[in-house]
Amino acid sequence: MQKMSNISEMKWDVIIIGAGIAGLTASVYLARAGRKVLLLERAEEPGGRAASKNIADAWVNLGPHALYKSACGILQEVGVTPTGATPKPNSLLVYKKTKGGDVALPLFQFLLGSFLKWSEKTQLIRFYAQMQKEDTSILQNISLQKYLETRLPSPRVRNAVLALVRTSTYCSAPDLLSAGAVIAQLQNGQVLYVDGGWRTLVEALKEQALAAGVTIQCGCSARTIAGSEPEMIVSLKDGTLLKTHYVLSTLGPKESLALLDPALQPEEAAMFERLAWIWLWLKCQSLKQPSLWVPIIPGISLIIRPSLNLVITRNKWSCML
Ligand SMILES: Cc1cc2nc3c(=O)[nH]c(=O)nc-3n(C[C@H](O)[C@H](O)[C@H](O)COP(=O)(O)OP(=O)(O)OC[C@H]3O[C@@H](n4cnc5c(N)ncnc54)[C@H](O)[C@@H]3O)c2cc1C
Repeated sequence: MQKMSNISEMKWDVIIIGAGIAGLTASVYLARAGRKVLLLERAEEPGGRAASKNIADAWVNLGPHALYKSACGILQEVGVTPTGATPKPNSLLVYKKTKGGDVALPLFQFLLGSFLKWSEKTQLIRFYAQMQKEDTSILQNISLQKYLETRLPSPRVRNAVLALVRTSTYCSAPDLLSAGAVIAQLQNGQVLYVDGGWRTLVEALKEQALAAGVTIQCGCSARTIAGSEPEMIVSLKDGTLLKTHYVLSTLGPKESLALLDPALQPEEAAMFERLAWIWLWLKCQSLKQPSLWVPIIPGISLIIRPSLNLVITRNKWSCML
């Protein structure tokens, strides 16, 4: 931690808001590219949702546990090599309603046993084979509910697929979920249970960030973002003003927009809300490609890389969603 007076005297190239996995990763890239980077975190430690806590001598992940292998490439690029194991599908359980109550079944028993009829088993197998080849770009505006209803006539098979979706997305609102986003997630496939929990990723990223020259300031909550690049000001909750050329926010779209001073006009806010959906789709697509520049509309362009989320630039401000 540096003294706040030293930090506020500097003019930073980039101030990153949020030292979760995304902010830490972005900071390494920027610092290695020769930028003066300040990483602000409102909590006392970096990590965000990827933090783990020591409880009774065991490290417990507060949020994520399954690391998609498609993300390993970018972690390796910033010098972090995760180790761990792929969970065995046999350990997964589904629940079968019986008169006597719910019964837990190993997945293989569910698939091979007598719970599903033959026609349902073939439905499930056909669904998975087709899903792998699905073009997710045309499914963005279709809800998962609708998508499954058109492909899986059996409600029991639909429920089995929904159980898998809940495990891989942490979301149980199929009527609201985009089928495109979910299928892209399922296509991305294999995960790794990280040895020592996600804190090992956070610590390794923090180490790389510090080695690259990033200044990490915890216990600092950004309150507003004002100005236009290259003359921007980030104000903190305690009133400190920080000067920077660019701001990257790793907060969610709504939280990022709420920091803007002056606030967006209603029509601008509506446009950025729409962009948030495009972001979700691009994020899924980007996992298959190392990096991607997309001109959205004149004056606004997006750069996206896996785990770096998204940078939107426009005349007034720059923001990472
Ligand atoms: C219960 C749960 C389970 C999950 N399981 C998985 C999983 O198995 N696999 C998987 O890939 N993903 C999983 N996720 C999702 C994963 O945790 C997130 O996608 C990832 O950690 C997000 O990282 P991030 O850096 O984008 O955001 P965050 O981790 O949210 O980082 C944002 C940071 O910004 C800080 N911040 C917020 N406001 C301010 C401010 N005003 N000023 C300064 N700092 C601020 C926050 O304190 C936080 O540290 C899970 C999430 C949860 C909650």
